[in-house]
Amino acid sequence: MNLKISSSVQRVALIALVAVSLFFHGCRSGAAGEKNPYGLDIVTTTREYSESVKADSSNLLVDLEKHIPGIALEIRYADTNNFTHTEIYTAPKAYLRKAAADSLLKIQNILAAEGLGLKIFDAYRPYAATLYFYEVYPDTTFVAAPWKGSIHNRGCAVDLTLIELASGRELVMPTPFDEFSERAGHNYPLKDTLALKNRALLLEIMTSNGFTMYEHEWWHYNLKERDKYKLMNISFEELEKLD
Ligand SMILES: [Zn+2]
Repeated sequence: MNLKISSSVQRVALIALVAVSLFFHGCRSGAAGEKNPYGLDIVTTTREYSESVKADSSNLLVDLEKHIPGIALEIRYADTNNFTHTEIYTAPKAYLRKAAADSLLKIQNILAAEGLGLKIFDAYRPYAATLYFYEVYPDTTFVAAPWKGSIHNRGCAVDLTLIELASGRELVMPTPFDEFSERAGHNYPLKDTLALKNRALLLEIMTSNGFTMYEHEWWHYNLKERDKYKLMNISFEELEKLD
């Protein structure tokens, strides 16, 4: 009996694993980009991406860990601790376009003077993940519409919080990251004055340094000047090879 259950569980797990890896492999090879179901203009090959950087250096996706001393990373989609309960990314990496990375470097330096720093939950996100998120959670308040693509897919959005630099401890915020509830919104009338203060501090420093807020998520910020950047579906492994 036990054997039967365990082999059927294994079979289901195996099928799921094969389905997910086929999905992501397909995306990595560019097939999903070229044949994306919404006909979007997506950069799907490293050659296309490298040419775009050669033509305009601001298209460069910068590795935040290398660019910003002391920045903390907790890339939730590279772990199962996220709303999909699945490892979406194959590497815990955070990349942003050069202008966004430079702004975060400036912000990290300002915060460091107060003993604070940034922790990144997510930054550039390959388009394949946006397709998958909508399948899992088809609510476009909290998950990007795949027929438009996410600003994360353009390398211009970042999900982040504040930490104490010395301990690495997160400052109190209204909700955990990716809690898809009203409480995550900037206008929610919080009673917790500490969470209110910390949310306002993050808002102030981000919006003073080139980012705009997203009203439904305290952790999500978009680069103000973002329209020229294309959607991308290049994997982290491929980006690392180009570094
Ligand atoms: Zn976000």
